[in-house]
Amino acid sequence: MRKIEHIGIAVKDTAASVELFSKLLNATPYKTEEVESEGVTTTFYQLGESKIELLEASKEDSAIAKFIEKRGEGIHHIAFDVEDIHAEIERLKAEGFQMIHEEPKKGADNKLICFLHPKSTNGVLVELCQEISSSV
Ligand code: ZN
Repeated sequence: MRKIEHIGIAVKDTAASVELFSKLLNATPYKTEEVESEGVTTTFYQLGESKIELLEASKEDSAIAKFIEKRGEGIHHIAFDVEDIHAEIERLKAEGFQMIHEEPKKGADNKLICFLHPKSTNGVLVELCQEISSSV
């Protein structure tokens, strides 16, 4: 894993949180993107090499809606940048980590992503992400 790509923060109301985080970070988000398959609206801030991702549920039964219901707003996941997501999944599985999905899927911000089960990572929801290059 090469660096922290982003930290995902679950929010109830993107508009209110964008106002807050723009003041906090002294920055403006560079994109808002709906990820239909995940039932989530994502908003990204770039901070040097890393990003902050705000996640708001766009469907009642999405994972973010359930997370907020159970634990309230706050840090949802940490995403690590990887060079080869398939190789990294194989490596982690061999080390005994449990994946939520065995196959990476297309996430927000032009990335292939997959999540590790927090049961196997000290309660931290970990996302792997690989930039989709234009050659793929
Ligand atoms: Zn993420």
